[in-house]
Amino acid sequence: MHTRARRKVSKVYASSLWRRLSGRVRRRARGACEQCGEPARRLEVHHVDAIGDGGDPFPHVRQLIALCAHCHGLRHGRVSTSRREWRRHVADAIPAEPEPAIIGGFY
Ligand SMILES: [Zn+2]
Repeated sequence: MHTRARRKVSKVYASSLWRRLSGRVRRRARGACEQCGEPARRLEVHHVDAIGDGGDPFPHVRQLIALCAHCHGLRHGRVSTSRREWRRHVADAIPAEPEPAIIGGFY
């Protein structure tokens, strides 16, 4: 994604509308990834239609999905390993909860 689109995206995530919208999606997920069903302390809300591809930044909640860091990484092509390998990788990198930064950005 080029710089202008990236700036637009960061504005979306800083907005109060996004916080409300993503909060609804997280509550719907009830602490489990909506793709793999694994309980996750941290859920990342993913746009089914990427903003960078012209998707609505604030779509209906049906167009948003709460994902664990592993499934979110898979969707964005940042992660290609199995969950088991990925866990081992993350555990080696940092002892605590994985920060999205280490898998390359938060969306
Ligand atoms: Zn998942």
